[in-house]
Amino acid sequence: MGKTIDQIKAEALKAVETASDPEGIKELSIRYLGRKGAVTQFLRNISDLPAKERPEAGKKANETKKILDSAFKEALERIQKPAGADDRIDVSLPGRSVQVGHLHPITRIAGEICGIFTDMGFDIVEGPEVELDYYNFESLNFPPDHPARDMQDTFFISDKVVLRTHTSPIQVRVMEKTDPPVRVIAPGKVYRCDSDLTHTPMFHQVEGLLVDENVSFGDLKGTLTAFVHQMFDEQTSLRFRPSFFPFTEPSAEVDILCVMCRGKGCRVCSQTGWLEVLGSGMVHPAVLENVGYDTTRYTGFAFGMGVERIAMLKYGIDDIRKFFENDFRFLKQF
Ligand SMILES: [Zn+2]
Repeated sequence: MGKTIDQIKAEALKAVETASDPEGIKELSIRYLGRKGAVTQFLRNISDLPAKERPEAGKKANETKKILDSAFKEALERIQKPAGADDRIDVSLPGRSVQVGHLHPITRIAGEICGIFTDMGFDIVEGPEVELDYYNFESLNFPPDHPARDMQDTFFISDKVVLRTHTSPIQVRVMEKTDPPVRVIAPGKVYRCDSDLTHTPMFHQVEGLLVDENVSFGDLKGTLTAFVHQMFDEQTSLRFRPSFFPFTEPSAEVDILCVMCRGKGCRVCSQTGWLEVLGSGMVHPAVLENVGYDTTRYTGFAFGMGVERIAMLKYGIDDIRKFFENDFRFLKQF
């Protein structure tokens, strides 16, 4: 008889330690535990041993079979574990790139609007979002029972305090503190009790005001035309439509040629070829008188626009609510 069962076991365990691939393990398994394997052969030849040694040898051989079987299985598991599943690090993998953030599209468009006007010499000013009724309405020529107050769905804090419904109160606050000439642009959040595809309870406006001697409606048209050409492009023509605001007289709404269809008519412009983007007008003398300006000497113009409206047109977005849902998949596109 050849090797003892202990020798076979030691030899097999040593071999499995150095095995590095599943095929090698399979081979070892056949060599030791297969039908013609060393352990199987040993068991078969037990009858050749002296009778008193046979039970002990048989017991040892069966134990060895079990030990080797589990050793092969363990080795196989160790080899087949995918790379990176344990504490090993593959230093050749490329690093994870850090994603750089960017400004929210509304912040960006507001900045772009302000940038165009500061280039023309306007100063940026701000005012409170919780505003006195006086600044939001009364000083802007909305008397207490004026029907125009109903045009704006106001959030009231109390009888005399509101969430500002437009950025126009900043005009008055600035004029109260400054003597003409005044040339300011006022960006900010405004609030109205309204919510649908094109309205949100909070949105952003940019207000502009210019007061000086000899300011005419022609200056207003020239300023806004220059703005629209820079914001969109030189081919974007403008149309001034008579309108009404209590704090300007005359008043005009400004349409631009539809940026989607270039005037041919489409869903965005309701087939009219034009898009309303701005409200404007010559500052009403009553407003100038409220801040103590000499209306025989000074005139001015004012205008206001919705930042979301401009952003929607510029980026081709049809639902204003997308700006405020903070959906990363939407925001990542800008
Ligand atoms: Zn259109």
